[in-house]
Amino acid sequence: MDLYGRLLSKVLFPGWERARGRTTMDVLAYLRETERASAVELEVIQSGLLRRLVRHAYQHTAHYRAVMDAAGVKPDDLRSPADLARLPLLEKATARATGPAREATAPPFAEVVKTTSGTTGTPMIVKYNAESRVWRDATRWRGYGWAGYQPGHKAFHWWGVLATPPTGWKKYKVELDHALRRDHYMDCSPRDDAHLARAVEALRRLQPDVMLAYAQGAAALARFVNRTGGRAWRDLPVITGAERLWPHDREAMQQAFGPELFETYGCREVMLIASECEAHDGLHLSMETMIVELLVREGDTTRPARPGETGEVVITDLHNLAQPLIRYVGGDSAVARGPEPCRCGRTLPRIGPIEGRVTDTLRDGRGNPVNGLLFSILFVSIVDHATQFQIFQKKTGELSLRIVPTTGGKMPAAAEQLALDFLRKYLPGVPVTIDYVDDIPVGAAGKRHIVVVER
Ligand SMILES: [Zn+2]
Repeated sequence: MDLYGRLLSKVLFPGWERARGRTTMDVLAYLRETERASAVELEVIQSGLLRRLVRHAYQHTAHYRAVMDAAGVKPDDLRSPADLARLPLLEKATARATGPAREATAPPFAEVVKTTSGTTGTPMIVKYNAESRVWRDATRWRGYGWAGYQPGHKAFHWWGVLATPPTGWKKYKVELDHALRRDHYMDCSPRDDAHLARAVEALRRLQPDVMLAYAQGAAALARFVNRTGGRAWRDLPVITGAERLWPHDREAMQQAFGPELFETYGCREVMLIASECEAHDGLHLSMETMIVELLVREGDTTRPARPGETGEVVITDLHNLAQPLIRYVGGDSAVARGPEPCRCGRTLPRIGPIEGRVTDTLRDGRGNPVNGLLFSILFVSIVDHATQFQIFQKKTGELSLRIVPTTGGKMPAAAEQLALDFLRKYLPGVPVTIDYVDDIPVGAAGKRHIVVVER
């Protein structure tokens, strides 16, 4: 790390976090110890946090009091992660409908409010308290640290960009934050050669220490770099997220960026769930931040997936007391692994590969590919006006934005305009219509996809 990087990592970044009243660096130091704790110690940590969570949820939220009373369960009955099986799963639709009823009436209250849409096109409002934010940030820094990324490093983010970027003071704060942390952001959604060439030029100019990227965005950029012979940087660790990192993309990415690729798995509801370490053999779970169950449904019951078997990812967030999320079915699946220790020496259990997280690729008017995941970002901007949405691209190329409006009829003109401008910007040359519908049918796999391309 260069001198400025060291100043940033040792002095400025911790000071900035402290100035904002955050204990991120203390939690990070703690997590770097507990990642090598014994299985018993880790379970003790989880059990203690779980008892606090269920007691708070029972006493201060209408939803969990009703759920636990109906299940005949008292907070004292839930003493360890295994006891969670006595509570029902929180399906996405229920989570969405119970947002206010899951909000606690006693402190700590929510300090952050976020909208999620995932890949299913059904939005949800997520709220969390200050402690939860600190643990999310520290968990992310720990996971990134396994890839060698420390605060102070120059980072190139090849990522999705918000449909409505922050303005005014908020924009200034974000920019200051990025500059202070030496983050350079570039939108990975357009995949045409001119845009990819600009990304190559940015990499050449910045010579970053690390790249964070949507997996498919990085793969597209890697193939462009390899095709054009544009690589002009030393080996660069790449941390991927948001999408599946396919084995067949790894080779192209290693040629373009260097041998070290790290897959991460997270979602907006709880942020980083698991990340790959330097042993590159599965993803370690953040046990101190959340309880992750991999479950197989059998009729009306569920059981934990056996090693090698795929199970649905079910999450309990241990630090969000403001709006508890207990046994939340996030919509992805992952392969369960046995208890064998990882070569890296960390004791946190592993999962993976992660399944799901697959979105279709759209084409603009000239046939250039455009990442479908982009449109979950658009949805965040029109969430007040739509309960479901889907982008449907016909064989002929025309695009239909299907909307189930929140209140009968249609979205306000401003929201329609925002959506149309956004689609025209990313899909130049493609005719777009907004079609209001009563419902959006689920696809073959029983999942509703936000992007469907007619084949
Ligand atoms: Zn490991």
